[in-house]
Amino acid sequence: MKIPLAKADLSGNEMKYIEDVMKSGVLSIGPWIEKFEKKIADYVGVKHAIGVNSGTSALHLLMLAYGIGRDDEVITSPFSFIASSNAMLFVDAVPVFADIDPLTYNMDVSRVESKITKKTKAILAVDAFGQPIDMPSLREIADRHGLILLEDAAEAFGSEYRSHKAGSLADAAIYAFYPNKVITTAEGGIIVTNSNNTADLSRSMRSQGRAVTGQWLEHEMLGYNYRLSEIHSAIGVAQAERIDEILERRNNVAEYYNERLSRLDSVVTPYISVDVTKMSWFVYVIRVKKGTRNELMEHLTKKGIGCKPYFTPIHTQKFYMERFAGKPGFRPGDFPNTEDAGESCLAIPFYTGMTRDEQDYVIEEIGAYLDDKKS
Ligand SMILES: *Cc1c(COP(=O)(O)O)cnc(C)c1O
Repeated sequence: MKIPLAKADLSGNEMKYIEDVMKSGVLSIGPWIEKFEKKIADYVGVKHAIGVNSGTSALHLLMLAYGIGRDDEVITSPFSFIASSNAMLFVDAVPVFADIDPLTYNMDVSRVESKITKKTKAILAVDAFGQPIDMPSLREIADRHGLILLEDAAEAFGSEYRSHKAGSLADAAIYAFYPNKVITTAEGGIIVTNSNNTADLSRSMRSQGRAVTGQWLEHEMLGYNYRLSEIHSAIGVAQAERIDEILERRNNVAEYYNERLSRLDSVVTPYISVDVTKMSWFVYVIRVKKGTRNELMEHLTKKGIGCKPYFTPIHTQKFYMERFAGKPGFRPGDFPNTEDAGESCLAIPFYTGMTRDEQDYVIEEIGAYLDDKKS
């Protein structure tokens, strides 16, 4: 059996809406992006949603919209997809990492305040693997110190922390829609915010710095082409229509893994905080003993089972260590919880339409391999 790590569920109106776009002849800057933005804003419960061509573009625009620039420090998690920190490098700002909580894999909120210096401008919270971070506590810290609070909720679309949607308690947040994400637009991302100013700036900068209501060739500021096309937006509308069903099916897949894999002594299943009132599963990540992770990965790969070590700590990525050589916080050993997780975590196949047979095969192969190691 061949089982991919992730697979998009495109069983809704995706094809039909793409056809509608093609027939209309309007392939960019049309009604579909507006439809998509409205759906996302309504679902999250925020005033504005600004669609862009990737989650990474969305992060870049947040940095620019909040005036984060040269030598500004942004406190963030070293255990994340690299794009969350790269956004700071795009604007010559400096990521300042705080180690994670080894249970939730999210930045340990109690370590944040000690990282604040005169240069700190913002906190960029990240929701790891779909589990929303404790934003109410971060909000208190940010307000007490006059910091901007941003959230990379790329992996947590639909999750809730004490009934607050991931992304809704930040000054501005982003979601991403690459095919392995909770919902997809093929490539795409979106900014959500209640701030009119952030919304206007983001809309302008995603489209060459045009005035939001001005003439086509009037450019008010430096801008980019980060637009989300009508075709991508149409896919997003079809996906967003089924968000409740998608989240429920993903939850069922996760629960079956939880139940079966927690019976294996040598596997640690995901820990979800009691404050998470709704979990939107992005990936399913197990934890095994440091020494066995890579061998298990090799075994599963041989058996046709897709798996990946999520994540490689950002502070030990080679180009980070080179770029920030001599600065504290960019050496192996600096964030032990992150590094432990980086050596022991493994993402196993997880997607909306995953069948019980596929799950059983994965579970059996994990069990068989780890049993072998014990005897
Ligand atoms: C996927 C992801 C992104 C980037 O999204 P792209 O659409 O691939 O650019 C950013 N941050 C996190 C945490 C992600 O998982």
